[in-house]
Amino acid sequence: MVRVRFAPSPTGPLHMGGVRTALYNYLFAKKQGGTFILRIEDTDQTRFVAGAEDYIQEALDWCGITPDEGPHNPGPYGPYRQSERKPMYRQYAEQLVNSGRAYYAFDTGEELEAMRERAKQSGFPNWQYNSITRERMKNSLTLSKEEVEKRLANGDPYVIRIQLPRDEEVKFEDMVRGWVSVNTRNMDDKVLFKSDGMPTYHLANIVDDYLMKITHVIRGEEWLPSAPLHVLLYRYLGWEDARPAFAHLPLLLRPDGNGKLSKRDGDRLGFPVFPIDWNPADGESASGYREKGYYPQAFVNMLAFLGWNPGTEQEVFSLDELVQSFDISRVSKAGARFDFDKTKWFNQQYLRMQPEADLATVLAAKLTEKGISLNEEKTAYLVPLLKERAVFPEDLVTEAVAILQAPEIYDEKSIEKRYNSEAANVLSAFYEVLKQRGDADAADYDVLIKSFLESRGLGFGKLGPALRLALTGVMAGPSLPDVLYLIGSDEALRRIEYFKQRFSL
Ligand code: GLU
Repeated sequence: MVRVRFAPSPTGPLHMGGVRTALYNYLFAKKQGGTFILRIEDTDQTRFVAGAEDYIQEALDWCGITPDEGPHNPGPYGPYRQSERKPMYRQYAEQLVNSGRAYYAFDTGEELEAMRERAKQSGFPNWQYNSITRERMKNSLTLSKEEVEKRLANGDPYVIRIQLPRDEEVKFEDMVRGWVSVNTRNMDDKVLFKSDGMPTYHLANIVDDYLMKITHVIRGEEWLPSAPLHVLLYRYLGWEDARPAFAHLPLLLRPDGNGKLSKRDGDRLGFPVFPIDWNPADGESASGYREKGYYPQAFVNMLAFLGWNPGTEQEVFSLDELVQSFDISRVSKAGARFDFDKTKWFNQQYLRMQPEADLATVLAAKLTEKGISLNEEKTAYLVPLLKERAVFPEDLVTEAVAILQAPEIYDEKSIEKRYNSEAANVLSAFYEVLKQRGDADAADYDVLIKSFLESRGLGFGKLGPALRLALTGVMAGPSLPDVLYLIGSDEALRRIEYFKQRFSL
């Protein structure tokens, strides 16, 4: 029975790299009929940020990757917040001490700092509390048994550190990276537990994964250096047979490939790095994809491709299709470069897949909000005209407004080039023809324009540019019959009149 967990720390908004980790966990679990769990890792109270947990839950819901078990929908392995599991951890820390795999350390912050400073002075800037240096520190390996007991009875602050062997190769097979091997010589005696009763990330993570029966740990590459320690903890706690398999996912890189895409990159690089807006009561806010008008399906589709590909040409995948196609052995080791243009491309694909009636409803509501009235038929007519060039539903609104409202700004350069006295005369003649014709549909206006030109032996260039500039102010946009139909003859006549006055030759 596959059970995976997404285990963020509520230290701020969830970065899109975190969402990708959650997504890969979700896809991996669902493909195998497994369970996707959300666990909030809030043991470090100093980094706790109010609102972050709600943000995480909301972001996952928006993406459609709602956990099967979590703080909001607890299952049989709760609680799902580490702070609420506090009483569970001490016994395991003590078990490690009793079996000679961990020890009490009483060194104060100042003593550790002094040690670090001294090492630095002697040319060792990376001092670590490890199998060699611990022999000169204040811990239950160097102090007498009585002294240790006295300190504990006294309530002296302490930490419990893992006692690593001096020279041992720790090996494990990562589902993404293959065999990983690290020597304990290069590791330090990490703190597992503090005298305030709180475990550190390492202990809590292992205990919880064990108790929650997690089968696969799928997480970001930044946790790879912790994995050998975790492997040893499983061994020392006697849980080796239950140890989950590891998969460390590649980093997300900036678009230029230059370094990790960080939380701080945020709006600075011109695109959001968060799924939804983050508006803390105090502190800096940041923008998200949801509020920028992205479809969650497009965002998720884009994320799925950051570090994975299906090995085929297909790029547009629904969440269900992703579940069917996802294969963790196709996750790459190399960092995945974020591509903002591709993200917009995905949104465009999803916009095109929306039923036109739905887009028309969105458009109608937005136009009403702006005080522009347009009947149902014309609104429905507008959607396919604008859809192909739009990335967001909002683009439809902008383009529609540009047609439906009389221009305020005119492309004066084009006017200078295209609007001469001959064009003015042709435009005036067309004005009369239009006035006589009144309202019509686009096909009829098309016939009207063609026969107008034909009867006068004129090419389209004699009327088209001037009429377009008069109606919309610019050279680009939908065809003239479409514009005429949408705005109606009265409005078209008004615009032509105004144009002729304003740019009289
Ligand atoms: N709490 C860790 C984080 O914030 C979880 C790492 C893990 O998945 O083991 O990313």
